[in-house]
Amino acid sequence: MEQDISNIQVLIVDDSAIVRKAIKKSVIQAGVSEDCIREAEHGAVALERLDESLPDIVFLDVNMPVMNGEEFMVAIDEDGRVEEVAVVIVSTEMNAKRLFRLAQLGARARLHKPFPPERIREVIIDMISAA
Ligand SMILES: [Mg+2]
Repeated sequence: MEQDISNIQVLIVDDSAIVRKAIKKSVIQAGVSEDCIREAEHGAVALERLDESLPDIVFLDVNMPVMNGEEFMVAIDEDGRVEEVAVVIVSTEMNAKRLFRLAQLGARARLHKPFPPERIREVIIDMISAA
């Protein structure tokens, strides 16, 4: 039986509106309801979204103005919320040291940009099964 992921709460964090739109489309195609998906253009806005309500999964870009992905991870590591949300790094970032640092801070998976849309469903199911 297909796993129902329609009510999974998703937050997409990326400074590119085009990338956010592409990820959102893939998340909807994966089976998540559109009204369960929120967006933020950088880490500081993402923290505000987390204050409103905790998502199940955060798709997080690394390179962003104001507050980048690593700074966002530091913030949720310090306040403990990293334990409650599954963070998936979505990035072209290839710097192994930086990716290791993000994993150390609690990022649970990584999607390399660009990715085939069907990967999103696999990642969402992985994240909720591991929770
Ligand atoms: Mg970016």
